[in-house]
Formats: sequence, C-alpha cells, structure tokens
Amino acid sequence: MKRKYYTNSYVGRFNTKILREETLKDGRHLVVLEETYFYPTSGGQPHDLGTIAGVKVLDVVDGDEILHVVERPIGLEEVECEIDWKRRFDHMQQHAGQHILSACFEKLYDAETVGFHLGDEYVTIDVTLDELTSAMAQKVEDAANELIYRNLLIKTYFVKPEELKNLPLRKPPVVDKNIRIVEIDGEDYSPCGGTHPKTTGEIGIIKIRKWEKKRANIRVEFVCGYRALADYQWKNDQINQVSNLLSIKDKETLDGVTRLYEELKDLRREVRKLKGQMLEYEAQKYYNMAREINGIRLISQIVTDRDLGEVKQLANKIVEKERVIVLFGVKGEKAQVSFSRSDDLDVNMNELLKEVIGLINGGGGGNARSAQGGGTDINNLENLLKSAEIILKNRYLK
Ligand SMILES: [Zn+2]
Repeated sequence: MKRKYYTNSYVGRFNTKILREETLKDGRHLVVLEETYFYPTSGGQPHDLGTIAGVKVLDVVDGDEILHVVERPIGLEEVECEIDWKRRFDHMQQHAGQHILSACFEKLYDAETVGFHLGDEYVTIDVTLDELTSAMAQKVEDAANELIYRNLLIKTYFVKPEELKNLPLRKPPVVDKNIRIVEIDGEDYSPCGGTHPKTTGEIGIIKIRKWEKKRANIRVEFVCGYRALADYQWKNDQINQVSNLLSIKDKETLDGVTRLYEELKDLRREVRKLKGQMLEYEAQKYYNMAREINGIRLISQIVTDRDLGEVKQLANKIVEKERVIVLFGVKGEKAQVSFSRSDDLDVNMNELLKEVIGLINGGGGGNARSAQGGGTDINNLENLLKSAEIILKNRYLK
C-alpha cells in the first residue's frame, strides 16, 4: 500500500485496485487500496472525504496501512477514486499557513508552537508566550504574509535520522524512521506528514482572528486562504450594513457605534431619572386622594394593565410617608394584588393578604410591611379590596 499523497498532494482523482475489503462487527466497511491519495487523520490535519467507485468515504484512518471507511461494500477490483478537493485544498492552505505562522512566532518572539488544531471553521495554535499584544500579533501577521507573497517553494523530502543534525529544525520529529521534512525554501524546516501546496502563494493570506490565554500559553485563532476570504466577506458586509444604518463612512463605524452607545447610556440615565420623578408625582397624587380614617390614610385602588413590579414600586414610594396603607389590585391577564403600609403602623399586611387572597382563587405572601399575590378570578378583584378594607376598618382602624 503506497501513501501517494506524500509525493503529490494535488491528485484529486485516481485509479487503483482494492487490495482488501472487510465489514467489521460494528457494521463499518473498510477498504484497503493498492495506493492512495486519501489523507488519513494525522498530525493535526483532518482526513479527506470523497468517493471510491462512487461510494462515499466517511473516514480515513492511519495505521500500518491506511483504512478507508466507506458507506457500503464496494465488491470491485479496479476502482476510480475521487477526493473532495475543496476540503483537501482548504486543509492544505490552513496547514501550510500554520507552518508559516509558527515559524514567525518563533523567529520574532522565540515562541514555540505546542498545540495545533485544524477545525471545521477555525484553526488554532498554542504558542509559549505569557502575553500577546495587538502590536505583536500584527507584526507576526505581517511577517507571515510577507512569506506568502514571496511565493516561496514548499519542498518535502525524507531524511535519514543521521541527516537531521544538518537541518535547522523548528521542532524535533515525533517518528524515528521515514522522517519527512517540510521546508519552506530555507526559511522554515519542520518534520510533517501533512499535505501542503507547492508554493506559499497558494495560501493566499493569513489572518489572525483573536487570541486568548490558555493555561501557560496563548491560543491564537487564525484563518488562511478561502477561509480568510469568507471571513473578510461577512465582516465587510456587516460593516457596510452598520455604516449604512448609521449613515457614516465604513472607517468611522467604531466611532459611530461608540457615540451611539454613549448616547444610549445617557438616555437610560435620563429615563431612570424621569421615571423616578413620575413615581414621586404619582405617589403624591394617590396620597392626596386617600381617604382618612382615624388619622390613617387608606388608598384602595384597582389599576389596569400595569406591571406588578411597577405597582409595588409605586406603593413603596407612597408608604415612605407616615400613616398610610395602600391596597392595589392589578387587573391584567390575571388578577394581582400589592398591599403595603408605612413603617409607623402596626398592621400585618401578610396576614391581611392571606385572609382575602382566596377570593380571587390565588395565593401569595410577604412580610408584615408588604405582601403581594395573584389569582385567576379577575372579576372578584373589587370584592377582594372591599373585604380587605372592611377587615382593616373593623380590626385596625377603630
Ligand atoms: Zn505540515
């Protein structure tokens, strides 16, 4: 079985023979080919997809031989194979971009790459840095893209272990035989079994998206080639839409949004202030309207379609004054009540609420100073307030 992707990473369609085919107990169908260009998951690069004789390849697994996991048995000797080229070329761009980015981190900041992940959307490397500033990241990015635009050859070759000492390797190999070197034309040498384009120009562009502290290292997220283009496309689109919305130039978007956000904060502050004033005014109005029984002011009122929280706030404001009792009934989709009194009165609002809440088929509670509740019988809300008034008059306001 020959691993042909080592010698030519550009073959996307090839003919070969099936050497062996088997179905495992778990139902997976495996195929071993005489030679293959399908890349198996290894070295941080995900496996290829595609078809063998029109049958879907679901996974490619590395080992002594390369196992192609296919959708169903094939049962042929001669087969035509096709690799999902869009996926493979994307992996080649991201992988080669990783070599270059890692090389630049090392060259500029002596930072080693200790982790690499090529995901479906983003690619990350973990570099041994305590901190990465925007200026540093831009310097690395500029240097990496310069290597791309110099369109350097990416060479791959196998070396014997004794030849390793002659190479300025960025990292030691993880295997001790069949050591494959990927060289970016005198600029970077690393042992790697992955697939790469022939020249750095094919990577197109490297863009660092963001980074974060990850244990002792910094995790850098980046995209290369078509992924970077797609990233630019949606970002450009969003910036255009935001700048159109604000009727400003695209380069002024951040200023515009910052200004808007500051205005919003001012407005919120203003609304809070006005709401406070309105509450004050409303509380005074209710207080003035209150009936006076034996020196205690009683407010008993149904309000419609108001938020219970807001009503409770209003009641709290009213009972800041001396010798007041407030009974609010809130009519909405359901019936709610809010009972409160001033601190200087000895009336238990919780007990009062519990005595009458049954009238609206409800429940609730609170403390001696204030209590809230709710129920389903909206039409009996007036009755509830009347009953509470009677109890107050007979028991507490005599
Ligand atoms: Zn590589």
